Amino acid sequence: MGTSTDQLELAATRGDAPGAPGNDVPVIQFEGVHKIYDLGEVQVHALRGLDVTIRRGEFVAIMGASGGGKSTFMNLVGGLDRPTRGLYKLDGVDVSSLDKVELAHIRNRKIGFVFQGFNLLSRTTALENVELPALYARLAPAERVERAREALRIVGLADREHHYPSQLSGGQQQRVAIARALMNRPSLLLADEPTGNLDSRTSVEIMGIFQRLNRERGITLVLVTHEPDIAQYAQRIITFRDGKIRRDERVPHPAAAEEVLKNMPVVGAED
Ligand code: ADP
Ligand code: MG
Repeated sequence: MGTSTDQLELAATRGDAPGAPGNDVPVIQFEGVHKIYDLGEVQVHALRGLDVTIRRGEFVAIMGASGGGKSTFMNLVGGLDRPTRGLYKLDGVDVSSLDKVELAHIRNRKIGFVFQGFNLLSRTTALENVELPALYARLAPAERVERAREALRIVGLADREHHYPSQLSGGQQQRVAIARALMNRPSLLLADEPTGNLDSRTSVEIMGIFQRLNRERGITLVLVTHEPDIAQYAQRIITFRDGKIRRDERVPHPAAAEEVLKNMPVVGAED
């Protein structure tokens, strides 16, 4: 298990400004990656030879039609599943060389996950939901609460810590999910359709939080979306089709969520 010093390491304090031009340390490296789901009778060839590198501090959107392999890609990146063939290196480490326990440990330390459905526990307050990932990190309870409060503050929900999910709007629930993903202070955040259930203003607010985490804390972000408007907040768009990368392009001028919000109507007063 990691020492508490590892656990306390703040992405924000990692020296050089990630995301700055010239910082080209690879975080995610795929070489010839295939994923085949074996269902006995049929085999689904979900990924068909991926070669891609994502570097520290990048903000990448993954796009493409349903069934193209986006979620499969995210599961591999997050170490929730392994390639059938090919090489995946996370921070320079060949993931296939790790056993289950080592992989789980790296995943807990380095990666935060945000999903479309929020996956919050309904009988549990916002604060307790955020604390959950740290239950496995052997943090002292006081430190755990302190960190969870900090994470809620980062997503702008300091005043909602005792609310239950049913007492929060969809956007607020997604912010709790983001705070929970930040709990172990990951250097990489993975989000699969995080704005899929949200109205357009709330979606932009969520993108603003991601942009801020990327800019201020240097967190590398990989985010799946099927909405072209949402992808414009990223710095790079990778498009999947039929298990392959069909396009991989820079966004010359990513949209700035904070600016866009200034010109968007507020529907109902959420706060
Ligand atoms: P996307 O997220 O782009 O919609 P997915 O990665 O979910 O695409 O799916 C890619 C292909 O793999 C699809 O044909 C899908 O049906 C199949 N697939 C995804 N997950 C599984 C699974 N656990 N078992 C079998 N087939 C799967
Ligand atoms: Mg999907």
